[in-house]
Amino acid sequence: MDHTNPVEPDNSHMNRTAETITLIGAGLNGPLLATSLKKRGFHVEIYERRPDMRKVRISAGRSINLALSTRGIHALAQANLWEAMRPIIIPMKGRMMHSAAGEITFQPYGKDESEVINSISRAELNIALLNAAEAAGVTIHFQQRCTGFDPTTGAIELRDERSGAATIVKSGVVIGCDGSASAIRSEMLKMSRFNFSQRYLDYGYKELTIPASTDGTHLLETHALHIWPRGNYMLIALPNIDGTFACILFLPFEGAESFARLTTHADVLDFFESRFRDALRLMPQLPDNYFANPTGAMVTIKCSPWHVEGKWLLLGDAAHAIVPFFGQGLNCGFEDCTCLLELTDRYGADWPRVFKEFEEQRKVNTDAIADMAIENFVEMRDRVADPRFLFRKKVELTLEAKYPLQFVPKYAMVTFHRVPYSVALARGVIQEGILAELCDPIRRIEDLDWTKADRLIRSELSALEQVS
Ligand SMILES: Cc1cc2nc3c(=O)[nH]c(=O)nc-3n(C[C@H](O)[C@H](O)[C@H](O)COP(=O)(O)OP(=O)(O)OC[C@H]3O[C@@H](n4cnc5c(N)ncnc54)[C@H](O)[C@@H]3O)c2cc1C
Repeated sequence: MDHTNPVEPDNSHMNRTAETITLIGAGLNGPLLATSLKKRGFHVEIYERRPDMRKVRISAGRSINLALSTRGIHALAQANLWEAMRPIIIPMKGRMMHSAAGEITFQPYGKDESEVINSISRAELNIALLNAAEAAGVTIHFQQRCTGFDPTTGAIELRDERSGAATIVKSGVVIGCDGSASAIRSEMLKMSRFNFSQRYLDYGYKELTIPASTDGTHLLETHALHIWPRGNYMLIALPNIDGTFACILFLPFEGAESFARLTTHADVLDFFESRFRDALRLMPQLPDNYFANPTGAMVTIKCSPWHVEGKWLLLGDAAHAIVPFFGQGLNCGFEDCTCLLELTDRYGADWPRVFKEFEEQRKVNTDAIADMAIENFVEMRDRVADPRFLFRKKVELTLEAKYPLQFVPKYAMVTFHRVPYSVALARGVIQEGILAELCDPIRRIEDLDWTKADRLIRSELSALEQVS
């Protein structure tokens, strides 16, 4: 995938408008979108409820690392920001699995070393995006919480988080980039015939840290995403550029082995000693770390419509929050930005048309990745330790090597390509069937029936568009 050619937008045909586009939320999607809209000649302002993270230390539990992959990289490259990110990313070539007995196995993510995912600190990425937005001329108003919005007048109600003072600003176009608990979406919930569903997992997550060694290097293999799969729950660790690892413990909220049972330092130490012994050796501050950080919840949110009369729009997690197990929430949000920008390049400030086509193109795909993310939860916590699953993964890569345009593993389609998520989902179902037919009767890759593979791939996949 070539990420090196950013698009310099051709503004000549655009019906440019003096009206302000107001974005709510300066998380990850807001500043990226704002930067690119500003470069296209729009006047853009952002209102963000938090303080400026470049001046105030971010709160505990908000520094979790993200896995950035092709869709996200493409969006950054289009905005001419990808090269600047390179110093703050660490490529991860595969999953390093840590068994309960302390054995380590490595499973590559892709067919070769070009197919990697990239660990990046959320805070570092957010800061880079805030800097880029301001450098492009976007005004960001911090500590301004959106508390309401009147679509008939375009009035946005804001509360200053320091003084409590309420103000109103008017804006012709408002884009809610305010995350999974979106205030803009809450206003839309008051409309008639607004569809909304939210589904929480019974699992929570907690951020933990593996410190760097005394000489500042990583205590585990640097270029891997480490997983301690334990059937019903798991620990993962992503490398940071300062030699530390950002870890996330995913555990049920309730039950025999759950967050509810870990109430004292001794509980936490005993649990890690029996379940994650090798990781515990690397976490001298574990109990303090554990109790200092909050336990987060994970939710899938689906809603529609995402837009009202070309005046307001939801984008990113505000429109479609997903659980983090495919590492795609941010990548999907950045792909939203790519899509919205392509539509503004085509239709200028014809917002009713832009917003309508945006939802038509994206909703089917964000629903698909939401479902695949739930499926991947089971894969990560449970199946990655199953020898039959690992065998299937090997067969998948072997088939991909022989049929690179027809048989691309679902993980690769989602992570290393930009085929629509809905296509990846549909092809993934067909491929699972082919894999079952080929793998179930055999134990060794040498016994793969190539004639049957050829026949199945020709009959079931050749008629579909190739994966590029
Ligand atoms: C544990 C975990 C791990 C993840 N790992 C990955 C990963 O590996 N790869 C990946 O692609 N994605 C990952 N994600 C998903 C990713 O974090 C989100 O998809 C992404 O942050 C969404 O960006 P956003 O800009 O839409 O929302 P956010 O990043 O949540 O930003 C929303 C912003 O809006 C502000 N805001 C909220 N309400 C208001 C208001 N009323 N007024 C003003 N401002 C407001 C917030 O303060 C925030 O700054 C992960 C998520 C979690 C929870």
